Amino acid sequence: MLSTVDSCPTARRISREFCGNREAVDAVGNMIESGRIPHAFIIEGADGSGKSTFARIIARGAMCSCREPLLGECEHCRKVRENIHPDLMLVTGSGKINAISIESVRAMRKDAMIAPNEADKRVFVLEDCDNMLPAAQNAFLKIFEEAPPHVVFIMTCRSAMNLLTTIRSRGRIITLNPVDISEGAEYIANELHMADPESASAACLRSGGNIGEALRLLGSENASQAAEKADEVTRGILEAMCSGSELELAVKCAAIGKDRALGGMVCGLLCEYLRRAMMVSIGAQDTLESPGQEVMRLGAELPAETVIEQIDRINELSEMLRINISMPLFNTRLAIILQRRK
Ligand SMILES: [Zn+2]
Repeated sequence: MLSTVDSCPTARRISREFCGNREAVDAVGNMIESGRIPHAFIIEGADGSGKSTFARIIARGAMCSCREPLLGECEHCRKVRENIHPDLMLVTGSGKINAISIESVRAMRKDAMIAPNEADKRVFVLEDCDNMLPAAQNAFLKIFEEAPPHVVFIMTCRSAMNLLTTIRSRGRIITLNPVDISEGAEYIANELHMADPESASAACLRSGGNIGEALRLLGSENASQAAEKADEVTRGILEAMCSGSELELAVKCAAIGKDRALGGMVCGLLCEYLRRAMMVSIGAQDTLESPGQEVMRLGAELPAETVIEQIDRINELSEMLRINISMPLFNTRLAIILQRRK
């Protein structure tokens, strides 16, 4: 790890919430601490490198009224963090190429003339400017030239080379790079309150030190694990339905435990499988493969009206997850809905 001995106190505070990128952190920390914040920044870096997060740190730095910069105790710090600051304007792209349009630039031009509401500065964050057409960039250049002193512009892009030279030469370019694997893993484990930093480390390694990508990997890993679990529980319930044993059905439904999200997913899957069983029941072919057997059997054994009623009642029960039904009650009710009626 690089030494932070030479960093100013503001940079040290930034490094507590932004991983790695010592050079960028030090540069911005010094600007904020000295109160000399340029009126235009260009933050470049790969998707997931933290451009939006860093833009918000600069925005906070421009508005902050804490005893010392970025202590996090003032209203501006709080409102920027909660994304509700009236002087932080987000400009995003639209259309097929997701580019900031000339219309958006014109609207921003009017907006920039208005004095700040609460802070001393009004900060415009222009996200993902790589695809911004030259006409829109030229219109933006005009705002640059006539911008009142209360305005700070922060553009984010994959590479500053995608912007016109005229724009590039007017902004302070900040480059965000991948982070050191162990530092990144520590940051992620901390952010996600992970008991097991091993998987944070693996995700960080796989993403090549890209925090956003590592978080995405961890998220999709969790999501696919959850989907697998839901499928396993649902298949258990379907088998129990086929067996006709009420006790087994109760046991399989109880496998949902206290996991509310799992309960919702199981309800969704059950409805889907029962709908297929109903198709079988009315003589339509079930063209989908899994879980073929149980669905075929249920379809053969249950009248369509019963299945329709079960689907309705499962949907109602699923709604109750949102109004905080207790999970043991939820699991019991699900078993009762699915019991075979003679
Ligand atoms: Zn503050």
